[in-house]
Amino acid sequence: MNSKTPYKTVIGLEVHVQLQTETKLFCRCSTQFGAAPNTQVCPVCLGLPGSLPVLNSKAIELAVRAGIALNCVIAPFTKWDRKNYFYPDLPKGYQTSQFDLPICGGGFLEIDTLDSLSGQPIRKRIALVRAHLEEDAGKSMHDEVAGRADSRIDLNRAGTPLLEIVSEPELSSAEEAKSYLTEMRLLMMFLGITDGNMQEGSLRADANVNLHFERDGKTVATPIVEIKNLNSFRAVERAVLYESNRQFVLFQETGLAIGQSPKQTRGWNDAAGETEMQREKEDSADYRYFPCPDLVPVVLGESEIEIARAAATTTPAAVRKSLVETHALKPNEAETLIQQGRGVVEYFENLVQEGASPKRATSWMLQDVLRYLNENNASIETYPISAASLAKLLMAIEAGKLDTTRGKEALGKMIGQPGLSVEKAIESLGIAQVDTSELESLCMQLLTENPDVIDKFRAGNNKALISLVGPAKKKNKNVDPRQVQEICQRLIESGTF
Ligand SMILES: [Zn+2]
Repeated sequence: MNSKTPYKTVIGLEVHVQLQTETKLFCRCSTQFGAAPNTQVCPVCLGLPGSLPVLNSKAIELAVRAGIALNCVIAPFTKWDRKNYFYPDLPKGYQTSQFDLPICGGGFLEIDTLDSLSGQPIRKRIALVRAHLEEDAGKSMHDEVAGRADSRIDLNRAGTPLLEIVSEPELSSAEEAKSYLTEMRLLMMFLGITDGNMQEGSLRADANVNLHFERDGKTVATPIVEIKNLNSFRAVERAVLYESNRQFVLFQETGLAIGQSPKQTRGWNDAAGETEMQREKEDSADYRYFPCPDLVPVVLGESEIEIARAAATTTPAAVRKSLVETHALKPNEAETLIQQGRGVVEYFENLVQEGASPKRATSWMLQDVLRYLNENNASIETYPISAASLAKLLMAIEAGKLDTTRGKEALGKMIGQPGLSVEKAIESLGIAQVDTSELESLCMQLLTENPDVIDKFRAGNNKALISLVGPAKKKNKNVDPRQVQEICQRLIESGTF
């Protein structure tokens, strides 16, 4: 029971993940997004008589990888079933899916959430029912072609491989549903299973929502509503909130509990901010599932499962642990890098591997690299500076050859002039190493001009010398702040002052 509401919200999510294959599930048509309508079709995905499907083994490989990452049991024997229904964008009149023998069973995903009673951050394990493979349908375009009365069908998407991952109803708030979807997307993207592009429909969710009330020591539940096709994190959050409120009001009015009113399928209208009745939910018997006579069952060997296991090791959870434990990042710093995707994490790891200190590398990643990517809407793959070059620059700063401010200027030069070496960038800023005797006379001058700083330092204020850095830079912008402080300290302690 949530402390804020007189009921408990119960949510199960079905996430449809579009697998990152080059071709469709049962034919060799391209899955590339954005082509002109009906240019990526063939007799198989158009459902023409006499055509026969041929399974894309890459889809099996990715589904098994996903199953392992989600801690599922991988079925050694799995088969294809026809789910029969009529829809304009489903030319075959059935969807090839998996009914009683899905490729992945059980499993779980861990999410970060807040304890509903204490409000403390906790890790919660959400159990999964199953994950099965199926083909996507085409697209009806009545919305897109504004101002036209007709509907048009684009079958480019028909036959694209989807992995449908079904959770147990163990999510208990809109925030948890969002957190689950966020972590699921991140995991699937980290392992190269999907491109995760939600605008292009590569990841969509349906939410099963109902409410539980405590009445006289018994739990009373409202009828389950399935909300279809949620294609953004915000949509999931808003739809669940809207639906919980709607069911609460309805239950107060009618008192109808689960079993007393049929299951409903509702659509989310994002513009109106409402769920809308679509149909009373079909039972699986309505679909007349039967094994597909055109496809042989899939038998997986131990070696195939082992290959998938090896490809499923770099999970966000494993990376979080390594960044925090090996490189001493703070959890929120690690999270910021991870949320940018695997490429950004790898870039960071390369910086450290090339010799940059993890602390400095983290700070430059979070400030400079991510800001550049953000401002230029760029991906790390197109970032103009290689990790090796940036590491070299960070090491030059570490070694006192230039300070952070000048380092950022050097980075700016390198970005503006791709291919410019770190040495040349530093040189072009006019930074010449200031020799020691020059530095000493500069420090003598500084201390003579600032006797109060000497007094403060002698009185035990170890940070007093920092105030000399500004004046020192005014005298010579190439001086290294650390050296200035060291020399001044030596001059005071040796009794010269
Ligand atoms: Zn095709």
